[in-house]
Amino acid sequence: MRVEDCRVITLDGPAGAGKSTAAREAARRLGLPFLDTGAIYRAITLVMLKENIPAEDSLRLRDALRGFSISFAGDRVFVGERDVTEEIRTLEIDAHVSSYAALPVVRSALLDIQRSQSVGGLVAEGRDMGTVVFPNAGLKIFLTASPESRARRRYDERVARGETADYDEILEAVNRRDRLDSERASAPLRQAQDAILLDTTDMTFDQVVERILEYAGRME
Ligand code: C5P
Repeated sequence: MRVEDCRVITLDGPAGAGKSTAAREAARRLGLPFLDTGAIYRAITLVMLKENIPAEDSLRLRDALRGFSISFAGDRVFVGERDVTEEIRTLEIDAHVSSYAALPVVRSALLDIQRSQSVGGLVAEGRDMGTVVFPNAGLKIFLTASPESRARRRYDERVARGETADYDEILEAVNRRDRLDSERASAPLRQAQDAILLDTTDMTFDQVVERILEYAGRME
């Protein structure tokens, strides 16, 4: 294992398992950068929807991918100069992101963007971090939780942001996205063979963070 791989921690799992918030806090406490790869797929989706480029139009898709530039400043996400942090979290993006994320042309274009962030170590969160993007990571965790508790978390997040939310609709969307992400041919959502399974259904946020830090402490 290369030295830099030791400081790469991957967290994969289905939508709403609490990966993002827990991974962000664990990264902060470990003094490592945090990479939210879902935000990258969401940002691509936003660009494609704004430009009216359907997933089937591979020529225009390729062109748009060539000009795509994403950057992060703390928890803010920028496409070019534009702050898209809120825009990438809408129900519309939720509904379309898995179709674009299933395309090999999109996934390969994003591979280098993701890997270039890992110099010196990082905590990376997504669907294929441990299986495809960072196969030599020093620690791999697969975070999961029951669909109901994941939908409940998403529901609570939306209500806390002052948005209207329908629990049944969210549950259906969560299940649909899991199905699309798990059944696609290119880098499907699955647990890496050497990943630790962490079921967060009955765990609090603090317990999840503590558990990740405990695993990270055993890494060397
Ligand atoms: O994690 P988040 O819900 O923001 O991810 C949004 C979508 O981006 C996922 O449903 C999945 O389709 C896609 N994604 C992916 N691979 C990743 C991260 C996200 O395909 N590494």
